[in-house]
Amino acid sequence: LKLCIIGVDLGGTQIKAAVFSMELELLEELRYPTEARQGPQHVLGNIKKVIAELLLRIGRSPEDILCIGLGIPGLLDRERGLSIFSPNLPGWEHIDVAAAIRAVYDAPVFIDNDVRVNLYGEWRFGAGKGYRNIVLITIGTGLGAGIVVEGQVLYGTTSSAGEIGHMNMYREGRPCRCGSKGCLGRYVSAAGLVNTVKERLNAGDTSIVETWVQSDLEQIKAEMLSLAYDEGDALAQDVLHEAGTLLGVGLANVMNILNPQLIIIGGGVANAGERLLRSVRESVSSRSLPLSNQACQIVQAQLGSRAGTIGAAVYALDRCAGLHDKNEQEGGKP
Ligand SMILES: [Zn+2]
Repeated sequence: LKLCIIGVDLGGTQIKAAVFSMELELLEELRYPTEARQGPQHVLGNIKKVIAELLLRIGRSPEDILCIGLGIPGLLDRERGLSIFSPNLPGWEHIDVAAAIRAVYDAPVFIDNDVRVNLYGEWRFGAGKGYRNIVLITIGTGLGAGIVVEGQVLYGTTSSAGEIGHMNMYREGRPCRCGSKGCLGRYVSAAGLVNTVKERLNAGDTSIVETWVQSDLEQIKAEMLSLAYDEGDALAQDVLHEAGTLLGVGLANVMNILNPQLIIIGGGVANAGERLLRSVRESVSSRSLPLSNQACQIVQAQLGSRAGTIGAAVYALDRCAGLHDKNEQEGGKP
């Protein structure tokens, strides 16, 4: 019997899924729309469909699945396999994800936060390979983070450890969904960058971006900043520099607390590359403890959007191995 492992990265707009061999070689992958607005049962149905299609493509049957890992945005109960709340998935409150998948595929199902499965991927197969102290920052629509300390992924009491996006940067700042204001993620994220540009334009600054959207500021996208930056647009350069500097302030604090060897920056906004990272490094260098700073590199993520599916598979395999160990200790009950 040839077993395989399924990794699913559930996003607000896309389900990314892949099937791997026991050696974690990619066998097949595909993407499918999440259709989040149609509610949790519909989305779970789409996930089941995607898994069925993957199996079909590699000519395997449901019995060949060793385990299934899923990365899900939002608050989770990992042990019970529940989604408690997800800002990007309407209606995902106390949804028993693991049970829904297990009802069709009789294999162990493990869920974790979407950013943490990215971390597992980058740690095992990407930029973090071989490191034992890592901070991963993903700058997408929002700002997410995951942390590895001494070779262990950090979870904390309620699995909320590493919420760097909610680091309080300003006593009075942009309100945040978490209830606080001035959180780092309200500034350093695709949404944050766009808000900064809008604020500056509304305050009378000018930018080439404004002509690209024909003055309809709602059409501004974070990706436009890199293009404008390269055109020599002063506002775009300023906004990316400011965001990089602010992220650097946050990361200097993180560096002083955790003393990591590597900070990996991924997510869509990280495609700005050195346009953003140069300011991040300058800012970190001037604010962190010199010894910690000298020992730490700040690099871009390597796996891109594939980090989530491979990470979900890595995580599931780890948890599955843990289950076996535990069962052996408890007398070998399967
Ligand atoms: Zn917050």
